[in-house]
Amino acid sequence: MIPFYKLERYEGNAPLFDLTMMSIVSTYVGEPLHVHAEGVRGTGKTTIARAARGILPKIKRIKDCIYNCDPDNPHCPQHRDLTAAEIEALGVEEITMPFLEISQSAKVGTVAGSIDLARLTDPLHPEARLLPGLIPQAHRGIIFIDEINRLADTSPEITDILLDVMGNKPGHIQIEEAGLPVVEIPVSVSVWAASNPDEEPGPLEEIRRQLSDRFDMVYYMGRPDSVEAIARILKENSYAFKVSQAKKKYSTAEDEAQNDVYRQKILKWAENYRNADLPDYLRNYISRLYIKHNLESIRATEAMQQGALLHSIIKGHDKVLISDVTDMIPLVLKHRVNGDVLVRMLNDVDMKGAKEGILSFKSKKNKKDEETSPDYFQQVARPLKDMSRGELVNTEKTLTPT
Ligand SMILES: [Zn+2]
Repeated sequence: MIPFYKLERYEGNAPLFDLTMMSIVSTYVGEPLHVHAEGVRGTGKTTIARAARGILPKIKRIKDCIYNCDPDNPHCPQHRDLTAAEIEALGVEEITMPFLEISQSAKVGTVAGSIDLARLTDPLHPEARLLPGLIPQAHRGIIFIDEINRLADTSPEITDILLDVMGNKPGHIQIEEAGLPVVEIPVSVSVWAASNPDEEPGPLEEIRRQLSDRFDMVYYMGRPDSVEAIARILKENSYAFKVSQAKKKYSTAEDEAQNDVYRQKILKWAENYRNADLPDYLRNYISRLYIKHNLESIRATEAMQQGALLHSIIKGHDKVLISDVTDMIPLVLKHRVNGDVLVRMLNDVDMKGAKEGILSFKSKKNKKDEETSPDYFQQVARPLKDMSRGELVNTEKTLTPT
């Protein structure tokens, strides 16, 4: 697998690299950020997600706890009632932040949990116990689902589990097995998904609107629209290229060093994120968008706030800029409003510009900041004409369920 730093960045996929890192930072501090990448075959959605495994930071857990209990905040049935001294006696270990995949053929038992057969049939100490599934084992990490639209179409039970897991931050999961008491535990996992809305069964928001709304951000990678982009996809899918890639050494010292650079950055960003907050006038700005454009989902505004903060941090801004908020609009609303509303909002943000459109409702209290740092307000959302066709290509459809 090509390491994260070597993956080619170009206009159409750059935002996905940002979202990936924003989600890792947020996951690390304990606040999931659910990201869905949509795009046609060959745009590298899954490659970027899987390569991100290489840059994941380490987390501390109670030694051998399969639920990844945080020693400072144990949550699993085995450890949640222990005292600090008892936990200290068990010991603490470092593991790489979990990254687990749910496949199309996954069963409820694999995803949530099932009876632990090894323990049940242990000749010395037979015991009926639950074996946590992929989601509880990914606590404090990431779950990746490729072709989520197909999964939502064929596995309504797994979709229901995801709705619970992604319903709140942290979410929760219920593990049920006949004959055993139901175990309900909190889980804090970021769900990453990929799908191709042009293939069967179609876009996620048309299959299970609720699940689509659980994703904080959706990035539509669009059709490759240049000769170079298509030539690159062809090259990467050629037999000779695949053979040469397979021969390459799995991971060199150089790759590991480059991954470590990312890991260090993520730890630093996480520290900044812990202490960051959105200024009131930007919070008002988001609220105003909600009211003015009659947005349906309050999750959209929460995602905008979380996204703007994370974006400002990974971009190294010393405070949150209006552009950090406006950059989030297409990502947060692409799957939540119909194309006309989105275009209207983007035009609105674009045409009025920072000065009158945004600052007009800044409270007087903040006036001083505004005068002392005029540079912060010159940049607004990208004008529509600068957006690639791919970002707007399927905005025509109406999301009104029939
Ligand atoms: Zn535990």
